[in-house]
Amino acid sequence: AIRISAMNKFYGSFHALHDVDLEIARGEKVVICGPSGSGKSTLIRCINRLEEHQSGLIEVNGTPLDDDLDHIDEIRRDAGMVFQNFNLFPHMTVLENCTLAPVLSGRLNRTEAEETAMRLLERVKIPEQAHKFPGELSGGQQQRVAIARALCMSPQIMLFDEPTSALDPEMISEVLDVMVGLAEEGMTMVCVTHEMGFARRVADRVIFMAEGQIIEQGPPDQFFDNPQNERTKAFLSQIV
Ligand code: ATP
Ligand code: MG
Repeated sequence: AIRISAMNKFYGSFHALHDVDLEIARGEKVVICGPSGSGKSTLIRCINRLEEHQSGLIEVNGTPLDDDLDHIDEIRRDAGMVFQNFNLFPHMTVLENCTLAPVLSGRLNRTEAEETAMRLLERVKIPEQAHKFPGELSGGQQQRVAIARALCMSPQIMLFDEPTSALDPEMISEVLDVMVGLAEEGMTMVCVTHEMGFARRVADRVIFMAEGQIIEQGPPDQFFDNPQNERTKAFLSQIV
């Protein structure tokens, strides 16, 4: 579970997130949408300390996110992250990308890590790519590696930041299919995405952000069919 309360984030003097309150239950699937620059990436990057917040509370599975490095490590182990641009290590094979963190962190030995990685590469349907380098793969394949790599750490929560935005249209569904599968298995998921079909199918709750604040949220049916806020309505009319 994730608990965020009265959280503020500044970049220098720019106030990027204003008093954000957000609780996400174990097993819940949340989709975050909103215009460019509204703070969506900043919010999910604060959850695993890729960005530091300046005030308020963030807690992941009961561990407070503060300057205690053990807390930060614990939270990063609990929360896997997938980025828009895959962020794979280009000089390592797919298999090496997947085994690096589990081995370095001492979580698994090399044999265990390779077995786990192969099992997860099978799950994302690219076991035959294990010995290639990221540059030899399509975007959809690279993103599936990124998901498998995150899953190798056995996270309880998965954070996705526009995982399909950099993909050619024909590759979007192969990544969304993997995400739907994760959701069906009960993973706690926080996804920044404008894939509204995915949101309707998978989300328990859709959140709309603008100017660093949560403006509106609700179950997908209510959110899409009967939005209350004028800014939500304007946003939805642009994207669907
Ligand atoms: P997009 O849909 O374009 O990805 P977003 O909702 O993810 O947008 P953020 O990337 O969270 O938006 O950015 C929120 C605001 O914070 C923007 O005004 C952005 O310019 C600013 N910002 C983001 N990262 C930094 C940074 N490292 N330094 C300074 N300002 C930043
Ligand atoms: Mg973003």
